[in-house]
Amino acid sequence: MADVQSRRQELDRRHTEWMSCEKCALSQTRTQVVVGSGDPDADLMFVGEAPGFHEDKQGIPFVGQAGKLLETLLEEIGLSRDQVFIANVLKCRPPGNRDPQFDEIEACQGKLFAQIQLIQPLVICTLGNFSTKLLSGSQTGITRVRGRAQTHLFGAVSVQLYPSYHPAAALYTPAMLETLRSDFASIPALLAGEAAAPPQPVAPTAEPIPVLVATAAPEPEPAQLGLF
Ligand code: URA
Repeated sequence: MADVQSRRQELDRRHTEWMSCEKCALSQTRTQVVVGSGDPDADLMFVGEAPGFHEDKQGIPFVGQAGKLLETLLEEIGLSRDQVFIANVLKCRPPGNRDPQFDEIEACQGKLFAQIQLIQPLVICTLGNFSTKLLSGSQTGITRVRGRAQTHLFGAVSVQLYPSYHPAAALYTPAMLETLRSDFASIPALLAGEAAAPPQPVAPTAEPIPVLVATAAPEPEPAQLGLF
């Protein structure tokens, strides 16, 4: 395993390189690439969907209303945003905040996989359907999988994947906010290596599942660059 310093340097190098990415059409409409922010050696990583209006302007993920809620939820479990790493499935804002498209996810997913392998978090909390489906490799919707940790391997890195609702969805739905809050309450135990809290009952109705099957070859992995 490469040491922390080599991983940090490689992450910085990648982030600088990605600033000029033109792999998909979002490069034509974005203000800037929003690679991610926080501790490059964090044990806890959050993965949202894509930058919105404010993120696109400021170059930092989760700085709008959903970001404020994320910060509050983090505070409630004794963490601040600089103690975690926050990233998105897409690094560029889709016009009008529309959903990410298949080809955009395909073009961008390698960046997220590289971040995971370089940061090596213990726990990744996926926020919403897009990051949950991409990182779990399953099409099962968030309502069915939230609040339960799953072990996943990203290259040689073993991670507890912990899906929850997207904070934006919880902003106007008090019941969802309470669920999100209770999901967050289990994160400290997960970080300590304990099993996640038992899931809450799953709603009997199936939710519509957006089509998302990422198949493209990911960004060259650190192993291919002689890092590991
Ligand atoms: N929503 C996301 O999914 N990501 C952001 O960075 C902001 C809002």
